[in-house]
Amino acid sequence: MIKTEKVLHLKSSRGRKVRVVREHYLRELVPCYSSLCQAECANEGKVLSADVTHYVVPDAGVTRDFMEILEFREIQGLVFTQTACQAVQHSRGRRQYNRLRSLLKDPRHDCVLFANEFQEYSYCPREKGEPQDKWQTRCVYQAAVWYHDHLAGLKPVVMITEDQGAVAEYSSLNCGVYVLSTLEYLRTFWPELQAAHELYGSIAQALRERGNEGTEREFAEHLPAEVLEAGIKSGRYTQGTLNVNKHRAQHEAFVRFDGSSNKNSELDSDVLVWGGKNRNRAVHGDMVAVELLPKGEWRGRTTALTEGQGEEKGEESQGQPMPTGRVVGILQRNWRDYVVTFPPREETQSQGRNSLRILATPWDQRIPKIRISTHQADTLQDHRVIVRLDSWDSTSLYPNGHSVRVLGRAGELETEVQTILIENCIHIAPFSEAQLREMPASSPERPWTVDPAEVVTRRDLRDTHLVFSIDPRGCEDVDDTLSVRSLPPGPQGPRLELGVHIADVTHFVKEGTLTDLEARARATTYYLADRRYDMLPAVLSADVCSLLGGVDRYAMSVMWDLDAQTLQVNRVWYGRTLIRSSYQLYYEQAQALLNGEEAELPPEERDHKLSHLIEALETLTQVARHLRAQRDQGGALELEGVEVRAQLDEDKNITALVPRQPLEVHETVAECMIYANHWVARKIQERFPQQALLRHHPPPRQEFFTQLQDSARALGFTIDTRSNKALADSLDQAVDPQDPLVNRLLRVMATQAMSNALYFSTGACPVDQYYHYGLALDRYTHFTSPIRRYADVIVHRLLTAAIAVEEGARPAKASASNKELEEMAQHINNKNRAAQHAQKVSMELFQCLYFRDKDPETAECCDAVIYAIRTNGVLVFIPQYGLKGALYLRNREGQVVRVSQDGRCVWEAGSLQRSLDHVSTTTASGTSTFRLFQHVTVRVSVQTSRCHADTLHLELVSNRAHRAPEPPDRTPRAAPPQGTRGRSQLVQEVVRQAEEALLQAEEKKGRVSELSKEEREFRQSKTPNLYSLLEEVREQALLDLTAFSTGLHTLSS
Ligand SMILES: [Zn+2]
Repeated sequence: MIKTEKVLHLKSSRGRKVRVVREHYLRELVPCYSSLCQAECANEGKVLSADVTHYVVPDAGVTRDFMEILEFREIQGLVFTQTACQAVQHSRGRRQYNRLRSLLKDPRHDCVLFANEFQEYSYCPREKGEPQDKWQTRCVYQAAVWYHDHLAGLKPVVMITEDQGAVAEYSSLNCGVYVLSTLEYLRTFWPELQAAHELYGSIAQALRERGNEGTEREFAEHLPAEVLEAGIKSGRYTQGTLNVNKHRAQHEAFVRFDGSSNKNSELDSDVLVWGGKNRNRAVHGDMVAVELLPKGEWRGRTTALTEGQGEEKGEESQGQPMPTGRVVGILQRNWRDYVVTFPPREETQSQGRNSLRILATPWDQRIPKIRISTHQADTLQDHRVIVRLDSWDSTSLYPNGHSVRVLGRAGELETEVQTILIENCIHIAPFSEAQLREMPASSPERPWTVDPAEVVTRRDLRDTHLVFSIDPRGCEDVDDTLSVRSLPPGPQGPRLELGVHIADVTHFVKEGTLTDLEARARATTYYLADRRYDMLPAVLSADVCSLLGGVDRYAMSVMWDLDAQTLQVNRVWYGRTLIRSSYQLYYEQAQALLNGEEAELPPEERDHKLSHLIEALETLTQVARHLRAQRDQGGALELEGVEVRAQLDEDKNITALVPRQPLEVHETVAECMIYANHWVARKIQERFPQQALLRHHPPPRQEFFTQLQDSARALGFTIDTRSNKALADSLDQAVDPQDPLVNRLLRVMATQAMSNALYFSTGACPVDQYYHYGLALDRYTHFTSPIRRYADVIVHRLLTAAIAVEEGARPAKASASNKELEEMAQHINNKNRAAQHAQKVSMELFQCLYFRDKDPETAECCDAVIYAIRTNGVLVFIPQYGLKGALYLRNREGQVVRVSQDGRCVWEAGSLQRSLDHVSTTTASGTSTFRLFQHVTVRVSVQTSRCHADTLHLELVSNRAHRAPEPPDRTPRAAPPQGTRGRSQLVQEVVRQAEEALLQAEEKKGRVSELSKEEREFRQSKTPNLYSLLEEVREQALLDLTAFSTGLHTLSS
């Protein structure tokens, strides 16, 4: 090893130049990480494949400015030098550096890091007076030469640099290394990679333009990092995430604090940031530091409804003044890829003929217009384009960006769907060949079969258990199956065995494999209105893992030994099993069997097992009712999501929007899955108290219930929100016998007040926060859908490890530390949020397509109910389509809606008065009043937008209920169970029975039930409660969509 000195010229964070001398050790052996190594380097970990035509070494400038191109998966055999990495770290900051590091770590990407500055023969000290960039380029060249020699010329080595002088100089040296510019490199080696060529052009253009910025300052300078840090410490500034109000993107933004960092104790609300100057170049999502303005300058948030964009500011009414501030610095940019639309031709011209810069409008209304340098403005009109932001200087009114890829013509279905994906940061590439090579072989001719060696390690249920599945019609990825049977009576009496058997995905997807990494990155299967993107390759999700009927499959099972009467758990068994599902049912079919109707079963399935199946379904229904009833004692709360699905024909035209049809069997299956998830959560938390993946649902913030409470009060109901049980009970009481919609709407509002359920690592959260408010369970996780959710894959691994420990294996190393698991939980939470949002937006897209095709003149009117009052209008709910929207009673011209004698509505000059439970308009011809929960008639039309998503527009037609002819046969196909009694009666009865049983049991034990700790401290009821919350509703919705998209698949293929 040789010791030298290395002189570094660094810039301090205050901007001063510092000269630092460091001892520098050089070694002869520095791993090359090439599989072609001729010198026995210690190449551990990721190694460059030999299976490429050449190796490519980008210099510091290319790595810094064109990393996006180097990220293309097609470009393989990449050697990043230490010199280039350090250049990125120093000139581009932590974010870009981390991006490079994760690229280097990603096993799916064929690139390595070569520590050239530690290598004795490739290190070159900087010469006196040598400019830094020249020296860096020389270092990289030296490294490339070393690489070429080290591999004995077995593989051509190409160095790329944007320094034309270096290209000429080094090319003439003939040391065996090719030196090319990035463009030449792409032309020579990747002529077909059109996307990379376009991206190159766009980045190069943006780089050229960056030099020509104006000098006049438009914004205040951001404060340096150390000033911000000190200010945050002292409480002068506060840090938080900037949230732009979508409806008032120009003016209104809020800074939301991440609790811990908020030193200013006076602040318990968001801080309003009003106007562009105060926002000071912060973009929606950025982490910023804000300074409060003097109280005299505080403002209120706007409460009026907003229509479209061009709203005049003057007459907005405002709420109470709230803390208002200005952005003084940006702690972290959270820029992503944005979809934009280029301006129409007239506008590009008015921006100056000589200028190549145009202002593109992002699809996301919260993002400011982006200035892009391009020659393609003309050809790309009416197209949607992906852009990335580069910079936003204080001298510029708009941020600068460059285009990355053209998505297609605006308004076309594919473009719009891709836009939704990009806008939600969902990037899905087809599964790579290397990933597919990891998959088990299975084809129609030679289907996959079980391995006898594996079979002996599992509990074989094939001959002992009648296993069946119930899913939406046409479901291919069967995650879960059920079984139920009688056991020989125990000392306490008759016993039952309930079994939940889940696809054994982790048998096939081993941790750290390419398939595992891809699944982890996706985190979930994505369901859009007309398609889905699977988390796992089809051979697993639709075949080998899927618990299809009539074939042997591996499963992970939970089996409960239950008292047949009280359903008390005697024993629980967890483990790997081998099953063969006898029946693959769909919901309607299972319900029909339960109702004793003739089921449409294929003849081969009408064998002797059928009577067993029906018996099992009946028992299962009883068990589920009982489980639900047990939870009901805590207060049965049924919430309601607005759910409608689009029915499509072969050409993806929407033929109808259909509200989801609830069947009791949905609830039965859901209840069994909740039970399994709950018991697995208990198991893994017990075994890994610091690093188990659970799912909790925080109690809602009380202030979110204001609207629900106000609206209910208008009708004389009181909603008690102090606990989930109180909420459930008071919602049950709030029934208007005249109008069933009232209760439904109150439940919709209660659902909206709920926070989201989230994954977390047990070590990262105090035990008292494990609680699942929605399901009223003290422990909960996701175990039952490993084909579609990565959380379940992690939970399967944790359960396997827990079982191994119990079977006497050495204390299993839990696969991930608490910190890693918590990071994973956050990643999955983010992806889930994105998936749900994308699904919602894609449904809205299809709703717009549906209404667009209707003739606006003859479009049927529909019934709507007013559920909230605003200063210039009301919010309504349309039950027929499950739509919610704003109805304006005052327009921009100051006219208000007046109701004429026959109930029809006209616009006239007048004024508008709002009160808690109604809004009235007064014109020269009289006063019209609109009350909460009043039915009105509206017409739905589509408001098209060039740059953003189309939206639905509601127009008031009459202040009377719309009496549409009853839609043909909307009655559920399943008759209410047991004759004429409705479900509620039935549930009440079972609840009563369960309560009596519990009372008896408690009397036996001689203890009196007291308020639990949770009830006292968190005002939550601890007793389990029957409650199909959004959580479940959403899950059901996903199931429905699965069926519907797979159905479509069959049609088109
Ligand atoms: Zn080597």
